[in-house]
Amino acid sequence: MKYRSTRGERQELTSADAVIRGLASDRGLYVPEEIPALPFAIKDMLEQPYTAFAEKVIGAFFDDYTKEEIHSCVQNAYTNTFEAKEIVPVVHAGDAWFLELYHGRTAAFKDMALSILPYLLTTAVKKQHDDHKICILTATSGDTGKAAMAGFADVPGTEIIVFYPNNGVSQVQEQQMRTQEGKNVHVFSIEGNFDDAQTGVKTIFQDPDFAAELDAKGIRLSSANSINIGRLVPQIAYYVYGYAQLVKQGAVKDGDPVNITVPTGNFGNILAAYYAKQMGIPVKKLICASNQNRVLTDFLTTGVYDANRDFYQTNSPSMDILVSSNLERLLYHLSSDDSSEIASLMQSLDKDRKYEIPSSMKDKLSLFSAGSADMKETDAAIGEMYKKNHYLMDTHTAVAYYVYEQYRRETGDETPTLIASTASPYKFADSVAASIGLPKAENSFRCIDEVAEETGVPVPASFKGLESRPILHDQVIKVSEMKNAVADALK
Ligand SMILES: *Cc1c(COP(=O)(O)O)cnc(C)c1O
Repeated sequence: MKYRSTRGERQELTSADAVIRGLASDRGLYVPEEIPALPFAIKDMLEQPYTAFAEKVIGAFFDDYTKEEIHSCVQNAYTNTFEAKEIVPVVHAGDAWFLELYHGRTAAFKDMALSILPYLLTTAVKKQHDDHKICILTATSGDTGKAAMAGFADVPGTEIIVFYPNNGVSQVQEQQMRTQEGKNVHVFSIEGNFDDAQTGVKTIFQDPDFAAELDAKGIRLSSANSINIGRLVPQIAYYVYGYAQLVKQGAVKDGDPVNITVPTGNFGNILAAYYAKQMGIPVKKLICASNQNRVLTDFLTTGVYDANRDFYQTNSPSMDILVSSNLERLLYHLSSDDSSEIASLMQSLDKDRKYEIPSSMKDKLSLFSAGSADMKETDAAIGEMYKKNHYLMDTHTAVAYYVYEQYRRETGDETPTLIASTASPYKFADSVAASIGLPKAENSFRCIDEVAEETGVPVPASFKGLESRPILHDQVIKVSEMKNAVADALK
């Protein structure tokens, strides 16, 4: 299996090489030349643990890794790092099945991929007989940063540098990042929003002089953002696993269709669901859920992507995004691999923050349905679900549930639906507490205590004692200072 850039760079790479590079030099994203078929029959896998699905699905995409290498990456990633013994529980509540992806070290779904990426990456470096140190550079809207730090902390041969927007993450997320231990960990708060942080990181990646400077020091930059194919592929496994669990639980017969609803920001998680469908999972609709930053809802309904709009800070901050990087991969597939078309669309995006796809591509958007929820609707969804079913959703998952219910009402489509449940409710405890009718507490940590007392839902182990851990990172910098910060960190 070879990988190539969405924007037409000629070179074909092995997956190991694509994982190391992160982003192509023409600024495109790496995509597999073809999507492999499921390497097993669902009915033969019903009794298998999550790790068996992960090995087979990841192995199908990353076939230049040996079986033993993939086995060891998967075992290292998922052994004793998740609190739920199933790793990904599938829970029926209300009108849907929740694929609970948040039982890892940082209580968000990003742990699913970021627990394994360090192993995929260090294995890739060994395979290529490359002796560079890998420096992971990451912009985060809150959850990626912490999950990347937890995954990479003290992994030999790596450094990890994280930038987060100073006013765009929750108190708990910020505390998680500022208290992260690890000799190779560097964290900066930047004056700006997530898009500023992401643009800053991309600019550093595209600076050939800086790359040469670092190369001379034996350092190579790579990315833990979902633009890295090593982040994306491990996420496909849980949709395949989720489908098998629905079959096992009797919610669908093997081969019958399901819908999948995903709360979406950078379009990575829902793209993984798209790949699961291409592998052979029978998906009828992929339902893309946005918060008030509904640029994707508008795109999927009109074919026009327009980031010229107000940016809202919402109570689902990991989806407060106006430029969804991974959409580029979907466009590439929808265009039947027409990389010059993609290069030109992305050029318009850079220049005008806007593009419109041709009608041949628009026709293929019918696989998707899309909708959005504002903050009030999100809170109401949390409150109602808790009242009726005693099931607690975080704000991101609640956006998905709201959009799914709206879809169901409008279409009458009762196909069993998996909802990607992307964070522990305790990660966004302020909103969750208010939504279930608790009085305003003094801060987020008190909210956690109160939600726990009221609901009896267990608090993730990594949150215990978080409030009083020592602050190890407290630098706030300007976007223009990001490159210097990287140079200093790597001195
Ligand atoms: C990152 C994140 C999302 C959005 O995922 P994308 O892959 O960026 O679409 C949704 N919910 C939570 C809790 C997240 O951390």
